[in-house]
Amino acid sequence: MSPEIASAKAAYLERDRWFDECYRDPGARFATAESLAASMDLAGIARSVVTGFAFADPGLCAASNDYIIEAVRRFPGRFVGLAAVQPDAGEGAVYELERCIGAGLRGIGELLPDGQGFDPARKETFLLLAAALQKYAAPLMMHASEPVGHSYPGKGKTWPPKILELAANFPELRIIAAHWGGGLPFYELMPEVRLALSNVYYDTAATTYLYDFRVFRAAIAACGAAKILFASDHPLLKQDRLVKRIGAEAGLTEPELALVMGENAARLFNLTGPDTNI
Ligand SMILES: [Zn+2]
Repeated sequence: MSPEIASAKAAYLERDRWFDECYRDPGARFATAESLAASMDLAGIARSVVTGFAFADPGLCAASNDYIIEAVRRFPGRFVGLAAVQPDAGEGAVYELERCIGAGLRGIGELLPDGQGFDPARKETFLLLAAALQKYAAPLMMHASEPVGHSYPGKGKTWPPKILELAANFPELRIIAAHWGGGLPFYELMPEVRLALSNVYYDTAATTYLYDFRVFRAAIAACGAAKILFASDHPLLKQDRLVKRIGAEAGLTEPELALVMGENAARLFNLTGPDTNI
């Protein structure tokens, strides 16, 4: 998150309803490019996928994207940047995606349907954007949440059926459903659902806020290790501690660990070189 946004937090709380939902707590933390790079060094993470905040207002998205672009440039080889866009902006969203791709970003994310006020399942909303993403072989990362369990700031109602419908509408589009897809991997045990989710991946962001570590084995049993991307949700979770705990407690084999901790992301983002985490 840009230091300008963090230092003008009060103004942004008023400008965006979901930013207020997520950050009104005085203890809410913001990451900068510098704090993330330091955290990665500590955790032994070579490369991270980074996102700004997806505001409802396209102009605020663009300003947030400018900071991601700058961060990617300032830390060569360390960040894979994603652009925030407002899908309901239609051609404007495609224009912003193309501006960001031209400036070195590699996809869209993390979109926040509950906060930005769009419906992921509405096909018309994504017709132009999905075509543009596919043209650039760029993935779309979407917040997802559980229809059960405790509530938390920013949880929202982007539940598994919404992600499934998005995937069914655009079978070629590569989608990353955040936070274990709100439980969607379980439904990959249904053959027709598995088919519809062929190009859907799941990230592990905020995992210890939501699940115990058996979620790794359960998800791998349901959808396979090739679809799971390690993500921390920095600065929400401490990367070094999380990496150590996954190695010790998740019960993954060495090949599974290699896929989850970097190989899947490298394949998805067409990267070569060291490991990539979100
Ligand atoms: Zn999220």
